[in-house]
Amino acid sequence: MRENKLEKSRKILTQSARYDNSCSSSAAKRQTHPYGIGNSHLGGICHTWSADGRCVSLLKILLTNICQNNCKYCICRRDNDVPRAILSPRELAKITLEFYRKNYIEGLF
Ligand code: SF4
Repeated sequence: MRENKLEKSRKILTQSARYDNSCSSSAAKRQTHPYGIGNSHLGGICHTWSADGRCVSLLKILLTNICQNNCKYCICRRDNDVPRAILSPRELAKITLEFYRKNYIEGLF
């Protein structure tokens, strides 16, 4: 099946977001035993703690990875040959609500 534009953009922009060190749980692929918790994937979902102490899942994504600057440490730098994408606020809201309704996430980062 052909991947639609929104799904393709989501994949690109969640992969780009994984380089943000403010949350490392979506930056590595790790699988626990069959009844364990805390599996992580290369991009897309990160975890944080709510005020009442619960661990919650957030969709971690950029609005765009298109940048005119060329900071050497950054995956999004202009000269880096990576797939590029941009989402409108409406598209980001659509993706977020879709993930929320499927119970994948409780919020957006
Ligand atoms: S290249 Fe520099 S300005 Fe552009 S997104 Fe990366 S860190 Fe930010």
